[in-house]
Amino acid sequence: MAEQNYVELRHVNKKYKDFQASDDINFGIGKGKLIGLLGPSGSGKTTILRMLAGLEHADSGEIIIDGRVVNDVPASERGIGFVFQNYALFRYMTIYDNVAFGLELQKMPKKLIKERVTKLLEMTGLSGLEKRYPNQLSGGQRQRVAFARALAPNPQVLLLDEPFAAIDAKVRGELRTWLKELVEKLGITSIFVTHDQDEAVEVADEIIITNHGTIEQMGT
Ligand code: ADP
Ligand code: MG
Repeated sequence: MAEQNYVELRHVNKKYKDFQASDDINFGIGKGKLIGLLGPSGSGKTTILRMLAGLEHADSGEIIIDGRVVNDVPASERGIGFVFQNYALFRYMTIYDNVAFGLELQKMPKKLIKERVTKLLEMTGLSGLEKRYPNQLSGGQRQRVAFARALAPNPQVLLLDEPFAAIDAKVRGELRTWLKELVEKLGITSIFVTHDQDEAVEVADEIIITNHGTIEQMGT
């Protein structure tokens, strides 16, 4: 029996004015898989993630998550966690408050928030740093805070847009291994965007290659 896709794009198109950023994009991802989206700058990788997350609307085609067409489902109801290249942490909030942010929006009781944040900080190797501010952490630590924050609301899909691009080569290698193990342990369906071929090969179960808004190749 063919494996059921947890995330699927079918004939998805997207134009910005008259520029075709996504041109008939088709792919599927099995539940719990970590897919690498590899392609040069400007090839449409971020556009694909933004449409999946509901931050951008597709002109045509279907975006499907867990068997449901989500084109018209708002971002907040898609169960997606997003990690960006440049941390995008809240500078004036402690690490604890950064990670707790999404849970407070959900109005989760304080006691449960504390339990969940403590667990997430443990999982991301950040225990003991809860009272610090983002500028008191290293780049690698900050990006792990961004992961903890994205994972806090327990998303079913994790989108990672060049999450290690701004980090030193040495630390980046460690983070790749860490990420792969974390995603495997959590069984969360993930897309990892990179323009670095070695990084894609090392991290992903399967790789999709984008170019000029299309998918050129797909495979393990
Ligand atoms: P990648 O992430 O692979 O670098 P993007 O998806 O960000 O590529 O962008 C694909 C193309 O679409 C680029 O040429 C970019 O300039 C263009 N683009 C992206 N966002 C917008 C926008 N909001 N308005 C106009 N053009 C855009
Ligand atoms: Mg991009």
